[in-house]
Amino acid sequence: MMGYKVTVFERSDDFGGAVRWGVPSYRLPVETIKRDIDAIADLGVEFKTGMELGKNLTIDELEKQGYNAIVLAMGLSDSRGLPIPNNNHRDVLMALPFLRAARNGESLIRKGANVVVIGSGNVAMDVARTARRFGAGTIRIACLEKRHEMPASPWEIEEALEESIEMEHCGWGPKAVVLDKQGGICGLECRECCSVFDEQGRFNPSYNDANLSVAEGDTVIFAIGQGAIINYLKDMGVELNQRGQLICDRTTFMTSRKGVFSCGEVITGPGLAVEAMASGHRA
Ligand SMILES: Cc1cc2nc3c(=O)[nH]c(=O)nc-3n(C[C@H](O)[C@H](O)[C@H](O)COP(=O)(O)OP(=O)(O)OC[C@H]3O[C@@H](n4cnc5c(N)ncnc54)[C@H](O)[C@@H]3O)c2cc1C
Repeated sequence: MMGYKVTVFERSDDFGGAVRWGVPSYRLPVETIKRDIDAIADLGVEFKTGMELGKNLTIDELEKQGYNAIVLAMGLSDSRGLPIPNNNHRDVLMALPFLRAARNGESLIRKGANVVVIGSGNVAMDVARTARRFGAGTIRIACLEKRHEMPASPWEIEEALEESIEMEHCGWGPKAVVLDKQGGICGLECRECCSVFDEQGRFNPSYNDANLSVAEGDTVIFAIGQGAIINYLKDMGVELNQRGQLICDRTTFMTSRKGVFSCGEVITGPGLAVEAMASGHRA
């Protein structure tokens, strides 16, 4: 719109980010996203797929190619797990790869699988409801928050309940993935969660280890949040803070490297698509 020549470099083979490969198609049809991308392409924006910063692309190379400003908008593309026993079992899955495969029509769970979804945000609801569409048997939510504390939107919770997603393990913290004698998963052992936040309002769950319960299931899917693995940026002269997050001026959107800017969830943390877009507009 401002007359600059723009190229978008994307590591996967499709554009649209988490809205394209995360939000399930029953909520947002792919045609709607394609229409938006086509409209942006019609403005003269060039799109290149299979280009991954840190793998086959560097900031130095982009500058050599004549790009005057570089905007890092990598989002939060990595699902978080938990260091609990048996978390590396083949039937323990991560939310984003599960949803990404589902978007391509591929199910990472077997038909009739009894699924335990760890987490209670909107992504957890998306995972549970997608599992339902792939023919899962029982689907149970296991989460730290009690029902009234769950961060998912009330209508997402309501629709999940209508689809027979069980929520009897709300207020329980994952302790271990339990295996049977054959080595298959038979459930998720949980301990009672007394509180999720401490007196300062920080996320700091406390547990009652004397009160345990098993959420039965043969498949476990982690949906407890997303992060960005962007350590490679340090080698490109872009500073990260101690927690591995991008350091970025919130007024100019410039990172520690001159001419390199950043926007979207990689700097704001998880939120709504419209907020990420607003951040992109401002940058
Ligand atoms: C399952 C799920 C459901 C959601 N549901 C909703 C919803 O209902 N409503 C709503 O408003 N928001 C929703 N969101 C949030 C919304 O999708 C995000 O706010 C938005 O997509 C963030 O935009 P972004 O551009 O910052 O990052 P992203 O959309 O994540 O885009 C980042 C892009 O950068 C690419 N990338 C990453 N690293 C590299 C690299 N090194 N080189 C090249 N490319 C790279 C990624 O492949 C990706 O395409 C949901 C998110 C998820 C995960």
